[in-house]
Amino acid sequence: MEIAHPGKVTYVSLSADDPATNAAFDQAIAEVRGRLGRTWPLIINGQERSTSTTFDSVSPGDTRIVVARVPRAAPDDVSDAVVAARAAFPTWSRTPWPERAARLEKAAQIIRARRFELAAWMILEMGKNRIEALGEIEETADLIDYYNQQMRANQGYVRPMDRLVPTDNNTSVLRPYGVWAVIAPWNFPYALLGAPVAAALLTGNTVVMKPSSETPLSAILLAQIFGEAGLPAGTVNCLTGSGSVVGDGLSRHPGVDGITFTGSLDVGFNQIYRQFSTRFPKPSIVEMGGKNPAIVMESADLDRAALGIFRSAFGMNGHKCSACSRLYVHEAVADELLARLDQQIAKAKIGDPLLKDTFVGPVATRAGYHDYQRFVETAGAAVRTGGHILTAGALAHGYFVAPTVLVGLPRDHQLMHDELFVPILAVQRVKTLDEALAEANDTAFGLTAGVFTRKQDEIDTFLERIEAGVVYVNRAAGATTGAWPGVQPFGGWKGSGSTGKNIGGLYTLPCYMREQSRTVCE
Ligand code: NAP
Ligand code: MG
Repeated sequence: MEIAHPGKVTYVSLSADDPATNAAFDQAIAEVRGRLGRTWPLIINGQERSTSTTFDSVSPGDTRIVVARVPRAAPDDVSDAVVAARAAFPTWSRTPWPERAARLEKAAQIIRARRFELAAWMILEMGKNRIEALGEIEETADLIDYYNQQMRANQGYVRPMDRLVPTDNNTSVLRPYGVWAVIAPWNFPYALLGAPVAAALLTGNTVVMKPSSETPLSAILLAQIFGEAGLPAGTVNCLTGSGSVVGDGLSRHPGVDGITFTGSLDVGFNQIYRQFSTRFPKPSIVEMGGKNPAIVMESADLDRAALGIFRSAFGMNGHKCSACSRLYVHEAVADELLARLDQQIAKAKIGDPLLKDTFVGPVATRAGYHDYQRFVETAGAAVRTGGHILTAGALAHGYFVAPTVLVGLPRDHQLMHDELFVPILAVQRVKTLDEALAEANDTAFGLTAGVFTRKQDEIDTFLERIEAGVVYVNRAAGATTGAWPGVQPFGGWKGSGSTGKNIGGLYTLPCYMREQSRTVCE
């Protein structure tokens, strides 16, 4: 099997420390700094629109920096965007898919060409480090290319079928639904907006998109790029604004035919999934959180395990839906593993995410910063490592915190079950793989999981019994994190996802279409 992405910065890259990359980053950061704080528009039917009220996207590394001033869309803007998308649907859905694919390929090219600039905006807006940001921009472009490749490989999902009589011509055709709403989270603001938008467009739907209010600029820049790539007016509409007005408005709108939401279980399941279908069932792709376990058995390579767990628990400050947040370690190796984990944490460079050597920047949101402090207080004596905010020197104006390890919480403690989404890892000692698996599966979520063991029978048991959509065995690059389109399709079971099919995978595009079985008699 060939290596799919030699040399590219992905989520398994340890550093992007070559002089050309650093120079390109430095230049992009300087340029972006010169454009901070400007006011941006909504994009409806190919037109820019301003609103009577705006809100500020603030940099979590230094909250004195206003990254962008963005429009707060009102209910009328939501309606106008849906009307524009409906009007664009007949022509776009009849446009042959190779032509749709060509425009999306162009969008991917623009994204790749502007990767340093987009990465710089992202670092300022939500605080991930240079490699993570560059990796995400590459992933966004790769997701689009992968979907194009899947469309080609499946011949546009038009397939001849068998016949019962010689004069019947039977075909299975997958066709678009209509207007697709895409609602995105702040942790992967480009990939988790750009990819579902591209999947919806490629399959012939038209789109209204809404970013998280923590990262609104991502959507505006992507919408502009789709426009520049030749997507016709009305096919991609962009609304910034609150979850309660824009997000809820889209998910209740009768003119929206399908929805992709990525975010929390509470909003995704309790609100959107339950309320989206009204007159009849409508497709609802809802990707939600995780409480992802790593299991370390007695025979494991402990250096590998410590590195993989460190990267997955604390990389991007625990802000990945795939972050490792629970560790079940065999009691015979627990002390040794925890010592190695502490060594990894002690080496981690925490600081300004714009600097090239930073491992983690700030917690991305004010709410997360407060959550972290509340969780640590709740954990009390279980805090083994970390457990405090960082305010010295250059960190004084941002949401910086120490990577934190909790040991010995009661197993039914809320911190063992709720998704925390900040750099906190909770550790339990176990005696057997059976016990570890029972605990690992005792959760509403089922997104990712990892195991470290040298025993083949334990690997087989783990793979057979773990309840998760993405699983890793003995992976130093990330015990539970670091998926890539076309390499590790990404999605969750149980409370982590609604379709049972992963994104960036073989079965993603059919989720955006409905089947029509055609019999044409001669
Ligand atoms: P969130 O609070 O659920 O928000 C997600 C999006 O929904 C935002 O755009 C938000 O807008 C919007 N929203 C809020 N209330 C809404 C409502 N009533 N109706 C419709 N939309 C509404 O999640 P988040 O904090 O942004 O993201 C973190 C979560 O995403 C974590 O749970 C993480 O695990 C999950 N996630 C999952 C995956 C995956 O692939 N499974 C990937 C990444 C992240 P506002 O920002 O304006 O409120
Ligand atoms: Mg922000």
